[in-house]
Amino acid sequence: MGSLPIQATETIRFGTEATYPPFEFLDENNELTGFDIDLAKAICAEIKAECTFSNQPFDSLIPSLRYRRFDAVIAGMDITPDRQEQVDFSMPYFENSASFVAAKNQPFKSAADLKGKAVGVQNGSTFQTYMIDKFEKHGVTIRPYETIQNAFLDMTNGRVDAVFSDTAVANDWLLERGKGEYGHLGETIRDAEYFGVGYGIAVRQKDALKDKIDTALSTLKANGTWQTIHDKYFPE
Ligand code: GLN
Repeated sequence: MGSLPIQATETIRFGTEATYPPFEFLDENNELTGFDIDLAKAICAEIKAECTFSNQPFDSLIPSLRYRRFDAVIAGMDITPDRQEQVDFSMPYFENSASFVAAKNQPFKSAADLKGKAVGVQNGSTFQTYMIDKFEKHGVTIRPYETIQNAFLDMTNGRVDAVFSDTAVANDWLLERGKGEYGHLGETIRDAEYFGVGYGIAVRQKDALKDKIDTALSTLKANGTWQTIHDKYFPE
């Protein structure tokens, strides 16, 4: 009798959008890194699977997942009712909220003063939907960007007056590039209808991968790995 074939390890192909520090970004050596990437690798280690990553625009991630270009999406993605009509999500793995960022020397002091102003958002994001629903009718121009970093850049060039994004990503930008000249405009916003109940890992509907990911996430939360990854990217 011949020897049994070596069992191929399972491969989980993740899709992401790597201009979203501290969740996913390319480091100085052009290596994909960040909280989400470390978490995905830890999940794969738990499942004893191999992990691969594809990097592509945020608004193409769910369509590509559905077309089986990859098996899961980890991209700071809010678990929203709209998206749940197209994909399933893991349990929430990160608590989110939304923030406006603007120059500190602006005359406007709250989001209510943005009438007649332009606000940058990530294309395909929950922030874009929120702005269209709540602000467009009040004369706010909403500018979608392929990456949120370009929205921030255009704010520094004066092409948009504010940027609306994830609080954790806004804080990272403020710390790295805001140079003390920019800050949060008004309070952070939590609105489950738009921003859901935290970030989730998206998988195709009814894919058994969801249960494996959830079991791995529970273990990583219980054994301190989640916290270690958190503290690496969010040092207090
Ligand atoms: N958290 C936002 C969303 O889910 C934006 C995520 C992102 O741009 N990577 O739509």
